[in-house]
Amino acid sequence: MNLSDNAVKVLEKRYLSKDENGQLLEDADGMFRRVAKAVASADAPYVSAFELQAIENEFYEMMSSLEFLPNSPTLMNAGRPLGQLSACFVLPIEDTMEGIFETLKNAAMIHKSGGGTGFSFSRLRPKGAAVNSTGGVASGPISFMKVFNAATEAVKQGGTRRGANMGILRVDHPDIMDFITSKKDNADITNFNISVGITEEFMKAVEGNKEYDLIDPHHQTAIRQLNAREVFDVIVDMAWSNGEPGIIFLDRLNQGNVTPELGAFESTNPCGEQPLLPYESCNLGSINLSLMITNTGAEPVIDFDRIGTVVKKAIHFLDNVIDVNKYPLPQIDQMTKSTRKIGLGVMGWADLLFRLNIPYNSEAALALAEQVMCFIREQARKTSMELAELKGVFPHFEKSTYQQQGIRVRNATTTTIAPTGTLSILAGVSSGIEPLFALAYIRNVMDNDELMETNPFFKQVAITGGFYTEPLMRTIANKGTIKGLADIPVSIQDVFVTAHDISSEWHVKMQAAFQRYTDNAVSKTVNLSSKATREDVKDVFNLAYETGCKGVTIYRDGSRDLQVLNIGKVK
Ligand code: UDP
Repeated sequence: MNLSDNAVKVLEKRYLSKDENGQLLEDADGMFRRVAKAVASADAPYVSAFELQAIENEFYEMMSSLEFLPNSPTLMNAGRPLGQLSACFVLPIEDTMEGIFETLKNAAMIHKSGGGTGFSFSRLRPKGAAVNSTGGVASGPISFMKVFNAATEAVKQGGTRRGANMGILRVDHPDIMDFITSKKDNADITNFNISVGITEEFMKAVEGNKEYDLIDPHHQTAIRQLNAREVFDVIVDMAWSNGEPGIIFLDRLNQGNVTPELGAFESTNPCGEQPLLPYESCNLGSINLSLMITNTGAEPVIDFDRIGTVVKKAIHFLDNVIDVNKYPLPQIDQMTKSTRKIGLGVMGWADLLFRLNIPYNSEAALALAEQVMCFIREQARKTSMELAELKGVFPHFEKSTYQQQGIRVRNATTTTIAPTGTLSILAGVSSGIEPLFALAYIRNVMDNDELMETNPFFKQVAITGGFYTEPLMRTIANKGTIKGLADIPVSIQDVFVTAHDISSEWHVKMQAAFQRYTDNAVSKTVNLSSKATREDVKDVFNLAYETGCKGVTIYRDGSRDLQVLNIGKVK
């Protein structure tokens, strides 16, 4: 199997089965067999034993060839006692003490199993509001977010991986200003990504430089007004100085809600790519695009036939995961099975562009992104329709917008672009749709372990091109770009661009290109150079809004002490 040393190290640390003394009970091959068998077993009621074995083999082949990988919890837990296979959950937070602490307990159980949780704190009454039963005053959403943060911190010691959270507050919540600045002191809320839930009304008020209403969620009445531009400026200022909060366009998320009768989206999962209704969960998986090329002609081209085949198998796989999954709560079991959402996405996009000789920051790359994702979504839906014929549509199909369109699908959604933080290490490719951060770098993963990585394809090109030397690679790692290095041909400098060679507009446009053909949302960080101004951040937010993105997260280089990826940290 084609696994790098780094991939093996990650697998051994957290993914492979071990006995009570920490001795490995399986290798990577054994893990893929275990997962394939467990996930194929969902087909037992529908096919013969012979066919079942063939399905298991197909799933095994697709994973062990690294063409497709399911999200981490599936790799860790399928066919094992825990059996919790989803990465993404959203839990409701009701405005009662019982509700808040019930959800806190449920979140802990999800974290223990490797899942991430998203919450909206918007239903909680603001700080200072009356508490009828005690005669006291409420401490407000931010105080409870800190409680959730502390619980996550404690659970992460014993869990399969670090629990991650998304915290969302609507922009019209009375405590919004405290929320926007809540991560100013980073020591406080370390286990949360936070995003402001932006409404259309707010964006209009920003545009017109108007006041907008702050609504008391308990009484649904306007209690105060704020100037929208002033609030927007504080969001921009915080994002500029700290990378947070991000923003999500709540009304836009809800335009994409295919089962509005079941409820509205209030939150996404931790990394923003998966809007879910309260108690819904979703399992994700990613196709490794860097392998989807054919070299039979003069120039390498995308192999759409192969993508089509992998999509079909991957959708079948992800749909099966819903049935073999052991859910942490009965409500989650019931909600998840009622809409059967799955999220197939991609990784290795930047690597694919390298191989096709296309710069990430080019119109050609945007056009290809749309073509590839459009094809994936089409094939994914087609497969979901075939599965519906065989196994039935999702139970709430009648209440969905598909019913009106006359499209009989088994899954309310089929596509999501995940960050693929760990999957991309396992597959040895660039993560999600992100450009490479650097061609050589140190990656901090899982509680500060450090891994040194060099882009394998770039290394190959450098060797073939006759300019590979150790000192040059070291220089590249320190500099973070090959732009302007005299030893490297300009044509190669143009194609092997990294995050910082790419202006923020191209980052946003790429996110928008993939979003156009993705049912759920797209995980993407818009990287800005350390010199970027607040105006640049504002432009990114506005462009994301104008181009139809569902949200946006920015990161200005150097604005936080501990970065996941560091240029210039070569040992
Ligand atoms: N996630 C989590 N903890 C982590 C990383 C990820 O809970 O440490 C969840 C979170 O919901 C995130 C989703 O998994 O949005 C997908 O993340 P990613 O694609 O990076 O996960 P992978 O499958 O590569 O491990």
